[in-house]
Amino acid sequence: MATRYSHREAFELNGTRVLAGTREVISLPVPDLFVHADLSIPVHVVHGKKDGPTLFLSGAVHGDEIIGVEIIRRVLSARRIGRISGTLIAVPIVNIFGFLNQSRYLPDRRDLNRSFPGSERGSIAARLAKTFTEHIMSQCTHGIDLHTAAVNRENLPQIRAALSDNSDVEDMAIAFGLPVVVNSETIEGSLRHTAHEMGIKTIVYEAGEALRFDETAIRGGVNGILRVMESIGMLRMRKRAPATNSRLKPPTIASNSRWVRAPQSGIHRSIAPLGARVSSGETLGFIADPLGENESPVTASMGGVIIGRSNIPLVTEGEALFHIASFEAPHGQVARQIDLVEEVLESVATEIDEPPIV
Ligand SMILES: [Zn+2]
Repeated sequence: MATRYSHREAFELNGTRVLAGTREVISLPVPDLFVHADLSIPVHVVHGKKDGPTLFLSGAVHGDEIIGVEIIRRVLSARRIGRISGTLIAVPIVNIFGFLNQSRYLPDRRDLNRSFPGSERGSIAARLAKTFTEHIMSQCTHGIDLHTAAVNRENLPQIRAALSDNSDVEDMAIAFGLPVVVNSETIEGSLRHTAHEMGIKTIVYEAGEALRFDETAIRGGVNGILRVMESIGMLRMRKRAPATNSRLKPPTIASNSRWVRAPQSGIHRSIAPLGARVSSGETLGFIADPLGENESPVTASMGGVIIGRSNIPLVTEGEALFHIASFEAPHGQVARQIDLVEEVLESVATEIDEPPIV
């Protein structure tokens, strides 16, 4: 029987048709494993009844950055995803080879996020990039790429986006609703760079640590994605409790960021947490020999807020320890907003009714 939405054409991915108002899991074939086992990338397509944007969500482009996988699982389980306008293409594990090896890279040690747009005859990374570019990105108008810090490092939940020449991208970054947005140009070979060249409005969400789940980082991602989907017209705007709206101010844009590096090798005792406001010259930690000799302080090279940090105390001279961003807004205000995030996300987490990961 024809429905009143029957005018909307089916969505097609790799030969599978997804009818309007339905969802499908589609497998994108990639090179086999060397143990004579087939391998494919699972893609979940939700094709709405009504026209609208086509949004991709990509997780684990770096194979050990697994928070995005859980973020996508929760987004897909939100009840209102069944009522979207447009099409959602969710790819929780893009770098399936790295994911299997719990590694950031491909088996040939290449970085998938430096291999876009890819090629059919190139390295394994280039082939995987080509598959994603051709099947997924070529069909999209918008994208959100989900990352974490590298292993033994942790990022404060934040958006990275090139704001200078695209107000739609800036709107997405602001709509995500987290206090920290870092204005960063795209890097050649990255998924985001290729997406920009293809005219796809794309932002990156960075939060947490590789190979770990972190409830706040996960909630920040789920909440942000649903908010972006509202802002671009895929979901109906949800009424939010006045407390949530008034306490969390619009995001603040970081104009500049810099890494503080280990002044010497040794055992590092950090005294500055993620989200802390720091002044130029402030002590962030101490590095000493295992017996406590030869101690020297680690000092902030500029004032700002700590948005990324190393979690491993064993450091070699030159190693990146703290990522400090300076903001257009007063740094004290940014730090207070960051303090509020956990609490605010607590109150909006009811959408997906599950116990938190602890
Ligand atoms: Zn990454």
